[in-house]
Amino acid sequence: MATIAFIGLGHMGGPMALNLIKAGHALRVFDLAPAALEAAKTAGAQVAANPAEAVQGAEVVITMLPASRHVEGVYLGDSGLLTHIAQGTLVIDSSTIAPATSRKVGEAARARDIAFIDAPVSGGTAGAAAGTLSFMVGGSAEHFARAQPYLEKMGKNIFHCGDVGAGQVVKIANNMLLAIHMAGTAEAIALGVANGLDPKVLSDVMSKSSGRNWSLELYNPWPGVMDNVPASRAYEGGFGSALMLKDLGLATEAALASGSPIPLGELARNLYSMHCQDHAGLDFSSIVKMYTQG
Ligand code: NAD
Repeated sequence: MATIAFIGLGHMGGPMALNLIKAGHALRVFDLAPAALEAAKTAGAQVAANPAEAVQGAEVVITMLPASRHVEGVYLGDSGLLTHIAQGTLVIDSSTIAPATSRKVGEAARARDIAFIDAPVSGGTAGAAAGTLSFMVGGSAEHFARAQPYLEKMGKNIFHCGDVGAGQVVKIANNMLLAIHMAGTAEAIALGVANGLDPKVLSDVMSKSSGRNWSLELYNPWPGVMDNVPASRAYEGGFGSALMLKDLGLATEAALASGSPIPLGELARNLYSMHCQDHAGLDFSSIVKMYTQG
């Protein structure tokens, strides 16, 4: 069993760390939020006073932070974490961030003989708790193979997507598509309801017809159509609209960098940008409020 430093114990990182503890690993954790540290300590983790202390003696370092600036802030700079991590250590960053930031941190790690992979996830907080996340990994085949036994304790589907940064590109493309079909699903149900249809009947029919998609079938945005989804608990928990807006911003950056047209992705970003003015903290399926004035 390994000693693992885990930094960033939020909605996703907290339950992911817990699954590594359950698998028998020794966890040394750090987060800026005292409540997150307390929960990890209760679960058996050793709490560090700062990130540098967390990585002392660790064979593996995992980060699960909100955005690019947090990852850069933690790893890079004169006293950044890379200056404290021992040569040969495996570093796994599971945050969803810009591919360019992953490559920048990856380059800095390689210069110090530290193995680095980007490994963003899909599957939400439920998948993090159940240990059924999908991991989209960017890095060398050798580093991917080294990471696999640890990722398998937190996820079910582990994909090697290419070199460092490739995991982020997959994640960004996936979430852009997710935002588009969530908004489209909300729009279609709102249209049906405004024309007298029962939202459940409409959803059942479309789920068996050519409009079927994940948002409709597994994460229905209309309240009352489906149990155990954020729409049926006032859009609490789940994947925050603000995080979806961040991911759509990453899609825009990637599109600008490559000269790719993403008209639907841009439309979705604008919808989420307006939506976040009042509902940033609600699950992203609350985009249905744009169509119902709710
Ligand atoms: P979160 O805001 O709940 O957690 C982030 C944690 O990082 C917080 O506990 C915060 O205190 C900590 N943190 C921030 N800066 C830090 C620093 N410098 N040092 C130590 N800790 C620091 O976010 P989350 O929902 O857990 O998401 C994390 C990442 O996973 C994001 O990139 C998000 O886009 C991605 N993601 C989230 C979901 C989801 O459903 N929530 C799903 C897939 C991917």
